[in-house]
Amino acid sequence: MREISEKRPVPSDAALPVSCLVCGLKDFEIILQKNDFEIFRCRQCGFGSVAPMPDDDFLLRFYEQQEYFQSDGVFGYSDYESKREFYLGLFRDHLRILNGHSEPGRLLDLGCGKGDFLSLAREAGWEVCGVEISDSCRREAERRAGVPVYSSPRYLSDKREFFDVITMWEVIEHLPHPDRVLSEVLPLLRAGGLLAMTTPNTRNLTALRSPARWSEYKPPEHLLYFNFDTIHQYLSERFNLQVLEVKGIHRDLRLASSGWVEAILDWASRLRLRHETRFDPRWWVYAMLVRMFKEAPRRMSMALGTLDPRLVDTGIFVLARK
Ligand SMILES: [Zn+2]
Repeated sequence: MREISEKRPVPSDAALPVSCLVCGLKDFEIILQKNDFEIFRCRQCGFGSVAPMPDDDFLLRFYEQQEYFQSDGVFGYSDYESKREFYLGLFRDHLRILNGHSEPGRLLDLGCGKGDFLSLAREAGWEVCGVEISDSCRREAERRAGVPVYSSPRYLSDKREFFDVITMWEVIEHLPHPDRVLSEVLPLLRAGGLLAMTTPNTRNLTALRSPARWSEYKPPEHLLYFNFDTIHQYLSERFNLQVLEVKGIHRDLRLASSGWVEAILDWASRLRLRHETRFDPRWWVYAMLVRMFKEAPRRMSMALGTLDPRLVDTGIFVLARK
């Protein structure tokens, strides 16, 4: 792998943690400086994080910004509504996997956003409830899913061993203290219950080759950066969970990270999202471009056996049993 140009020695005044959250060692390298934060990586296990770690007050103010869930900017669900179909597709995939491991039971979605996953799960027969930090999203989630949504898991503390499944879609990377949150929610899961989560994959080629261009390196929104091995190690060693499945998500595979490929895919995805029908010729343009730029490189690389398919996955799906 090419040297990363942003890589540089750790300055003596950097507010790095005492030890790596995943492997417990202290052997870090700074890989990027962004939005007034240093992004560093453990040389031993590859787990990444930010310094200084923002405190709870800072994050609360950050997430209270009205534009977080609507903005087209660098942060937030940039224009969630226009990408809703895309998220629904992902949520259906996740639900299929859960249904393959468990009969519909009680499900808690932590960080449920606007409640679209809650609604799908409820329609599929699950008894659901959600937790969401944003006031406006919480109200919208309650409206969409028609179920209670709480602002913190502490309001569920009387529901020990109550849930069959806890889901955290794209949540863990936002948490400054994941140990604290998981220690609070795992007691709510019954023995043998399932914890499912997704998070960006830092062993993705763009993240490795040009971290400055990888959109998931975005402090203070994303604070923790996992790969397939570190998320597995974290859940199994720290929480004694049995990891059942760790699989790649390649929802926006961009093998070639050149600007024009990104521009074409962005343009094409906007076409598709506005005209979500197979009867529209623009849908076919999108489908063809996806095959050319997303599916073909992945399949080719796997067929040739020359490239670890995990290098082209942008995200990780993990399923673990308590
Ligand atoms: Zn480590």
